[in-house]
Amino acid sequence: MDTIELDPRLRYAAGYLGRAPKMLIDGKMVGAASGKTFEVYNPATGAVIANVPEGDKADVNLAVAAARRAFDDGVWAKVSPSEKGRMLWRLADLIERDLEELAELESIDNGKPYAVARVADLPLAVDMFRYMGGWATKISGRTIPWSLPGQFLSYTVKEPVGVVGQIIPWNFPLLMAAWKIAPALAAGCTVVLKAAEQTPMTALRLGELIVEAGFPAGVVNILTGFGETAGAALAAHPDVDKVAFTGSTEVGKLIVQAAAGNLKKVSLELGGKSPAIILPDADLDAAIAGAASAIFFNHGQCCCAGSRLFAHKSVYDRVVAGVADIAGKIKVGAGLDPATEMGPLVSSEQFDRVTGYIKSGRESGAKIAVGGERVGNLGYFVAPTVFENTRPDMKIITEEIFGPVVCATPFDDDDLDRIAKQANDTIYGLAASVWTRNGGTAHKLAQRIRSGTVWINCHNVFDASLPFGGYKQSGWGREMGEEVLHNYTETKAITAAL
Ligand code: ADP
Repeated sequence: MDTIELDPRLRYAAGYLGRAPKMLIDGKMVGAASGKTFEVYNPATGAVIANVPEGDKADVNLAVAAARRAFDDGVWAKVSPSEKGRMLWRLADLIERDLEELAELESIDNGKPYAVARVADLPLAVDMFRYMGGWATKISGRTIPWSLPGQFLSYTVKEPVGVVGQIIPWNFPLLMAAWKIAPALAAGCTVVLKAAEQTPMTALRLGELIVEAGFPAGVVNILTGFGETAGAALAAHPDVDKVAFTGSTEVGKLIVQAAAGNLKKVSLELGGKSPAIILPDADLDAAIAGAASAIFFNHGQCCCAGSRLFAHKSVYDRVVAGVADIAGKIKVGAGLDPATEMGPLVSSEQFDRVTGYIKSGRESGAKIAVGGERVGNLGYFVAPTVFENTRPDMKIITEEIFGPVVCATPFDDDDLDRIAKQANDTIYGLAASVWTRNGGTAHKLAQRIRSGTVWINCHNVFDASLPFGGYKQSGWGREMGEEVLHNYTETKAITAAL
């Protein structure tokens, strides 16, 4: 096992990395039952930053048993809605207290710039816990009017779905944990969350904060381990009532199969190939900057990244030149370097995947306007890349790349149905952005696009109150907003003869 090598620029997180991070099971911070650990890497250098517990089926069994007991014995149900809300707020306060430490952990683990983690990932995670803390007191049913003969009183109640298994990806590690844990707890469920093996650090640290916030033992359990072992065991576990997954569409299909054993409820937030559509009357400077940020934010490692750029023929050349110019000027470097605007990709697998797609694009005849290369020879850096001359059948257009690679295509049309048809020509349906000064056109196009989110003159804009999720193969159900509570509640109809 390699020795741990920490970046000397770490100011807040070295202490945590140095003290053998542990999982949270049944209220205690513990190692894996097998005693095994696995190495976590800094993607800027490939150096080992920590050894974390390698949870597997045995640990999943312990965590599910703890969550089951906390649910079935009413440990969490006995906590009043307002106290549940207060606990979620307390957790938000603790995350805020340790913001710098968590942002540094996120940066060194995932590769993203520290400043981005500090101003985007962390505040959004804090806000999610606060927003859902507010919902804890507001989840209620309805009274239902009767039409058939007789006198009855009918009403519905919303009840927690039970023990929830949650599996999250590596692109926004702490934020994805917040999107999952906060609504499940507000709804009264108990939780077993598995972090992504590439980025386990902030979820493990969150485990400590959950204990500090005073959540009863077993209500939240946090595991680290691999997808094929710990993840698969959680998705298939007969005592788990519901699984919530965020990740690739490919693994999403495996989750559905694994869940079939006990027909657990499933919600999925999967891949995307989101269009950014620039109409000829758009504010072009804003649209160009927006289209660049749509794909290059978080190194293109966003499920809603604007990876297909459609621009009207009359502005296409200017748009491509503008986006390429921005791409060429982005400062690529280690996340802890204050000058860095884009960090490395998360892992060597992801580096191979993205550079493989760039190679495939070149071979299939697309032209590179900028980028297309590795940056440096250490770590997993890929230059922001713009492809032109793409055709609808190319893999770089049809498949999700999940890296800083955008494919530009012109359209020579003013018919909104035909523009929408081109944008909708994908198996995915997560998000889209429309860039125009004409409000009517923007809303008409927004209605024609088959995706869970449409942004107008912006992209990648989020709020805890906004439902987010996919049409088609981008998923089932919605995260955030009031909608996410449907993922974690059952509706019961109660009828009394009067
Ligand atoms: P990516 O391909 O971007 O790494 P994945 O969809 O593979 O994303 O991973 C997202 C999450 O799913 C991670 O936490 C991973 O461990 C988990 N995972 C991967 N394979 C499986 C599986 N077969 N069953 C359950 N979880 C899995």
